[in-house]
Amino acid sequence: MASVYRGRFAPSPTGPLHAGSLVAALASWLDARAHSGLWLVRIEDVDTTRCDPVWGHRLLAQLAACGMVSDEPVIWQNQRSAAYEAALTQLTRLGLAYPCGCSRREIEVALQVLGMEPERGQVAVYPGTCRPDQGGLKDRPARAWRLDVRPYTEVYWHDRRLGAQSQNVAQAVGDFVLKRADGLWAYQLAVVVDDAAQGITDVVRGEDLADNTPRQRVLQAALGLPSVRYLHTPLVLAANGDKLSKHSGAPALICDSPAQALSALQQAAQVLALPPSQTSTIGEALAQWVQAWGAR
Ligand code: GLU
Repeated sequence: MASVYRGRFAPSPTGPLHAGSLVAALASWLDARAHSGLWLVRIEDVDTTRCDPVWGHRLLAQLAACGMVSDEPVIWQNQRSAAYEAALTQLTRLGLAYPCGCSRREIEVALQVLGMEPERGQVAVYPGTCRPDQGGLKDRPARAWRLDVRPYTEVYWHDRRLGAQSQNVAQAVGDFVLKRADGLWAYQLAVVVDDAAQGITDVVRGEDLADNTPRQRVLQAALGLPSVRYLHTPLVLAANGDKLSKHSGAPALICDSPAQALSALQQAAQVLALPPSQTSTIGEALAQWVQAWGAR
């Protein structure tokens, strides 16, 4: 663990910042400042089917309006393919990554035959059809690339808010995708490669991402990268109890004026159980919350 704190906020530019994503942004910023560390922004636009640079720039402008600006140049993941390719090559040489020729339908059928269909709401665990020691691609073209997770059964990690966590990655998610059939890099690989490349020591992000952490720890171990500390923040729920997200139609954060930005920050601070700030400037409010955050 590096002694200098380096945190990050890593939004996907699929839409503007909303009340939920502001909570994660604010928490990551406050945690960095309370540790006298650096706070970096990374635009996670690997999924070009869902991301748009216009949203990336809008997110950065919204963050700046809320007083949060990256301490180093912003990294855009669409510029980072060479690093992801190098990681995939490393994993392939280690015998951990392998090409998969299965379509979604073929996986469904294979799971039915094996009596391994997922329960409602659970992910389909890939049955390992294309693993090299099970015959590999068998003359089919490669579609996706997967990680062989058999060496990684129980993964334990500590979350600074949620406490002790564990997941049997092999059972819960199986050989997960590193590079998708459409040629796009998977979030899990990109996030791990970039967190390491940016020297990130602390990941602070929304609780909806907590169950990705074991896969990311597996990849860090497989690639010989340092592990990081994690803090997953509470989610903002929509009126129907669903997580507030771009998909659930969360309204864009309005921060066109300093007063609007401060009011959005006050709401985010409330979700983080921070005391309301009585000041009228964003800078002073942020400074008060850094104190309160550091004192917990
Ligand atoms: N890009 C991811 C998202 O917006 C967050 C990634 C992360 O913080 O690890 O959901």
